[in-house]
Amino acid sequence: MKNSKSFNCTLAIIIYMLGSWLHASEKPNIVWIFSDDHAYQAIGAYGGRFENENLTPNIDSLAKNGMTFDRAYVANSICAPSRATLLTGKHSHLNGQVNNGRGFSHDQPQFQKVLRKHGYQTAMIGKIHLDGNMQGFDYWEVLPGQGRYNNPIFVTEEGKTTYEGHSTDIITDRALNWLKNDTKSEKPFMLMVHYKAPHRNWEPAPRMKEAFKNRTFPEPDSLFDDYKGRGTAANKQDMSIEKTMSLGRDLKLAVDKERKEFLDKNKLEGKALVRWKYQAYMRDYLACIAGVDENIGRLLKYLKEQGLDKNTVVMYSADQGFYLGEHGWFDKRFMYEESFRTPFLAKWPGVIKPGTRNNDLVQNIDFAETFLDIAGAPIPGDMQGVSLLPLLKSEKPTDWRKSLYYHYYEYPAVHSVRRHEGVFDKRYKLIRFYGLDVPNGEEWEFFDLEKDPHEMSSTYNNPENANIIKTLKAELARLREYYQVKEIPQHPRKKKGAKGKRKGKKNK
Ligand code: CA
Repeated sequence: MKNSKSFNCTLAIIIYMLGSWLHASEKPNIVWIFSDDHAYQAIGAYGGRFENENLTPNIDSLAKNGMTFDRAYVANSICAPSRATLLTGKHSHLNGQVNNGRGFSHDQPQFQKVLRKHGYQTAMIGKIHLDGNMQGFDYWEVLPGQGRYNNPIFVTEEGKTTYEGHSTDIITDRALNWLKNDTKSEKPFMLMVHYKAPHRNWEPAPRMKEAFKNRTFPEPDSLFDDYKGRGTAANKQDMSIEKTMSLGRDLKLAVDKERKEFLDKNKLEGKALVRWKYQAYMRDYLACIAGVDENIGRLLKYLKEQGLDKNTVVMYSADQGFYLGEHGWFDKRFMYEESFRTPFLAKWPGVIKPGTRNNDLVQNIDFAETFLDIAGAPIPGDMQGVSLLPLLKSEKPTDWRKSLYYHYYEYPAVHSVRRHEGVFDKRYKLIRFYGLDVPNGEEWEFFDLEKDPHEMSSTYNNPENANIIKTLKAELARLREYYQVKEIPQHPRKKKGAKGKRKGKKNK
């Protein structure tokens, strides 16, 4: 009996290893699923106050069958810069896209150009938020600028097409269309599916809006933050639910009669009004998330039905995090955790152990190199990240990075978040806000996340922290040198009403 058990066990191991070897012997497909402003707090697998709301069963299935990264961060927490970093594997100051203005050069090196040269079919479908024609993709079909939630227009090399329906559903339709009709089975593929949702102003598909309209969600502890423990930037921002979030455009009173009637009748003000706005915001935002998740389910189902799931790496991430009422805010931009962090999960049967969690510092500068490494393609020497492939295989290199560099540039601009840079080492965070109307023009903030996980009070001036702050300043200087932070490119902000231009031109 004992022998037979051990024989079965050995057989199972041999079959597993053989399966892994077979998978490894052919290049895997990569499906990269990306959304816009998806807070990690709004994913069940990340725990937190929405854990039991069952918002993301399909994203959670990636966690169950793959790896969840608990320490994934961005280099610059805003839409276009994050996408430029994704494609180039470089910090904003080197890829040139420091803010949401114009200026991304598609002629510069990008991972998909290398991938395509090394035998991959490449496609980009959905929101890219970079003006100009895409390069290095066999097929691209993108939303112009921010794109529309409903009846979205898509731009391709051939011109523009309008599709009827909700952008999340249609982006998935178009991605499935490419998989079904345009891919050749003898070549591996890299498909990027980029959702517009859940970007402001959070317009879910009608079926989701209906499903969420009577739900009530837990509030964050810091919904009524008074910003006393922080400096000018947190005090002077313009991204609060109380003051910035509009009833008309953001919470849709012009078209939502039920909401309008409720407010007309109840005449809420002060904290009661903030609480009501928070609930309306969460209903719309989380309904957008549910739409994204449902559509991820459609993609996963198709891969499984076609037998592609076994040799396909599926990854999910967002261009950055988002405030879901923490500090009384919506939006992103700050180096505080909710916007600095981003969700990142990956499933790869036979390679990633199901149900694993990773706690290493990873950043969006790493994604481009990871795609290339997975594909066995060479990694250009000027990319600034590190391939995550060893982490995916649960083989952490001994010299893994100990700190991250962050830099936000978009000021003056919407939401009035001041420019800042900083360093984070998993426990301590040091931020330098600059260009302020104070002596010397700068203010520093320091947080010990073990003692103050919600970053409510900077202890920069506490003498007990002098040594660690000195160490972090040296580390910040080292990172600036390492990442070649010198002159900061000044992109012109897009003029109000200006439209992005995309001409039909041959792909390179
Ligand atoms: Ca974004």
